[in-house]
Amino acid sequence: MAASVRLGRIAGVMVGVNWSVLIIFVLIAWGLAAGQFPAAYPGNPRWTYLVAGIAAALVFLLGLLAHEISHAVVAKRNGLSVQEITLWLFGGVAKLQGEVSDPGAELRIAGVGPLVSLVIGLVFLGVAAVLNLAGQAGLLHGVFLWLGGINIAIAVFNVLPAAPLDGGRLLRAALWKWRGDRVRAAIVSARAGRVLGVVLIVIGLWRFALTGVFGALWLALIGWFLIGAAATEERQAQVGPALAGVHVGEVMSPDPDSAPPDMTVAEFIDRYLLGHRHSAFPLTADGRPVGLVTLDRVRRVPPERRDTTRLRDIACPPDQLAIASPQEPLDQLLPRLTTCADGRALIVADQRLVGILTPTDVSRAVANATLRGQATHRPA
Ligand SMILES: [Zn+2]
Repeated sequence: MAASVRLGRIAGVMVGVNWSVLIIFVLIAWGLAAGQFPAAYPGNPRWTYLVAGIAAALVFLLGLLAHEISHAVVAKRNGLSVQEITLWLFGGVAKLQGEVSDPGAELRIAGVGPLVSLVIGLVFLGVAAVLNLAGQAGLLHGVFLWLGGINIAIAVFNVLPAAPLDGGRLLRAALWKWRGDRVRAAIVSARAGRVLGVVLIVIGLWRFALTGVFGALWLALIGWFLIGAAATEERQAQVGPALAGVHVGEVMSPDPDSAPPDMTVAEFIDRYLLGHRHSAFPLTADGRPVGLVTLDRVRRVPPERRDTTRLRDIACPPDQLAIASPQEPLDQLLPRLTTCADGRALIVADQRLVGILTPTDVSRAVANATLRGQATHRPA
């Protein structure tokens, strides 16, 4: 769910929108303008329903944004760094980096989002109540009523105690505080996430079978997403501590063969690819890394252009490469690996390339660490 469009910084945090957010925007605006509003408040000109539907959908998205920004601001205050906030198909995501130091910080970061949604919802319901008292129980009242209800629904859904929802983080914080075992707490909340996902799918499909309403399928889709995200969290919870204390230098492949950036693709294929078994080559200038060429990138150059295309033209550029020092802890490097370099990182000491970290190196490290972990936990 990478951002397709970056909107800019709000409260110091980059905010982006993935194209898939258009799907929820259109579904909500259309559902309200063509269905719910005309049915509940008949007799208005048709364009007013359209304006009301679009406005409600827009304000709904702004409410989601406020929810995510509150997570980001509190996370920063508790020492985490915030990469970006992205709105997408299933709402918002705040990409946080780093580890919370104690259950209290976890509780504050996770709790503030639903709290903000709840407050927004109550404010909108308050406005609706005032309009009602003033005798304005028409379409405008309907818009505020819907916005109040949906924001409270978001708050309630998000505190369900299951990862990756905010409630899952709250559960993790509570178990962590209670039992003192952070890893165990994360695994329990991730398993709860899978259970919730299955429950949502069953309810969604069952309601769809009974009513044929599309919204029921949406519930099933959210359940499916939750199962996937919860499984990832469980894996991370298990692998993270196994890798604690492992440094990049211990698992990298040292002294990789590198190629000069000005070499043509044709020359590269003759002199490097055919003689080596590697599938990625760092480009270096005076020993410093200036890019990375992968087999996939070479393959995409048509044969007739191999003589004129230079490696620097097809390389993953330095600003999109994950670069680390041999002393860096492996678990901190993993989240930085990019698809641009097919999950590889270049390892640099004193500005010179000293190694490359490949997906194979990482899985070998994980396998070794897991074995070691099992060995130390086995009762003697
Ligand atoms: Zn949240």
